[in-house]
Order: sequence, then structure tokens, then C-alpha cells
Amino acid sequence: MKPPIGIYGGTFDPIHYGHLRPNLELCEVLGLDHVRFIPAFLPPHRNNPVTQVEHRLEMVALAIESEPSFVLDDREITRGGSSYMLDTLKSLRQDFSDSPLCLLMGMDAFSGIENWYHWQELLNYAHIIVSQRPDTDFHAQELWSDSLSAFYQEHKYQKCKTGSKNIHNSLCGKIQLETVTQLSISATDIRDRLKNKQSIRFLVPESIINLIECYNLYN
Ligand code: ATP
Repeated sequence: MKPPIGIYGGTFDPIHYGHLRPNLELCEVLGLDHVRFIPAFLPPHRNNPVTQVEHRLEMVALAIESEPSFVLDDREITRGGSSYMLDTLKSLRQDFSDSPLCLLMGMDAFSGIENWYHWQELLNYAHIIVSQRPDTDFHAQELWSDSLSAFYQEHKYQKCKTGSKNIHNSLCGKIQLETVTQLSISATDIRDRLKNKQSIRFLVPESIINLIECYNLYN
């Protein structure tokens, strides 16, 4: 079996260091071949992005261009319509039939996964890696519904169980929690700062700040 591939979807409106650093750590710690950044065309479970898709795509491309283990994947944009992750995973499975797929998401996203289209089927195509996000995460499990807790209990990866399936020896089906360096950055906060004419230096790469200025985004 080939090494696992990380799958990272988001609106990236704009992309920030809270997206970049945790995924680099996950790539190293999980031994991923690479991480595919997949900007959503129309996110079905949240408000539409503020910024048009071409600019979000360009920002992601620019932010990851210097990191060889990060790859831009525009399949949700090319596909158009609502960007259901299940459809994305099905198409990735066709392209990468021998590679485990690891759907990477923050705890906030996982806590709301029951709202995703056919959420329980996601594990038929990928593992789910949940990274701990600042402030909200340590007690997040206490707030999960019974069905989400049962889903996690049934599929969670137990490190000490001998012979158990893990993300390197099976294509899909496990849920794994990982702790990453905590960066309390959100795109919402960045958009608010820009609206209030505050600096966003050191929250996003300098090249992204230049692009935002160049296109006059988030005013
Ligand atoms: P917004 O504030 O507009 O909701 P966001 O900053 O949460 O945006 P998204 O593009 O919606 O970013 O998130 C995509 C993925 O990135 C989600 O899985 C989310 O949990 C994760 N994520 C976002 N910010 C962080 C962060 N600071 N640390 C770890 N994961 C993050």
C-alpha cells in the first residue's frame, strides 16, 4: 500500500497560518505523502465565502507554493455546485486507488460533522484525523451528541491494540485525534481586522497580505 495522503478542505477566506502550520505537523507526524488543499466552491454547511473563488484559489496557491508536501487541488471548483466532501472523496479514491486517504479537520469541524451530507459514509473512503483547535477543544467531546460519540467510539484508532488497522495499513475507516501546535487564528477574525483597518501581519503569510491589498479584498 502507498503512503497515506492528507485531504484538507476549507473556504480559505483567507488562508492563514492556522491552516498551514498544523497541516505541516500532521504531515510529519503521520508520515503523509503530501497534503492536498481543496478550496470549497460552495460550502454546503456554512455561509458562502466573502471572496470570489478565483481569489481564494490564488491565495491558497501562493501560500503553499514553497512547501513541497502541500499540493493545491481545485477539483471542487472544477466540479462546481455544492462542495460535498463525500463527492470529493469518491473522486479522490478513483485517482488514488492504492493510497489511504486522511481527511484532516479541526475539532470544531468534526463536532459539527453530523450536518455534513451522508457523514457516516465518509469513512468508507477516508480516515478522519481530528486536530485539536485552541480554546474550544479539550472539552469538546462532552458536547458531542450520542450519535457522534458512538461513531467515534466505534471507529477510533486505539494505538495499543495489536494488529489493529491504522492509517498506513488500511485505506479508510479510522478516526484519530492528534494534537498540533495551537494557533488561535481564524479567517473570521482576519476579515474583521481588515474591516477595522487593523494589521493582519504575522497571522497570514506576507505574500497573502500583498495579494489582499492588490485585489482590495475584505474592505
Ligand atoms: P472561518 O473563520 O471563516 O470559519 P476558518 O479560519 O475556520 O474560517 P476554514 O477555511 O473554514 O477556516 O477551515 C477549514 C479547516 O481548517 C477546518 O477543518 C478548521 O477546523 C481548520 N482550522 C481553521 N483554523 C484553524 C486553526 N487556527 N487551527 C487549527 N485548525 C484550523
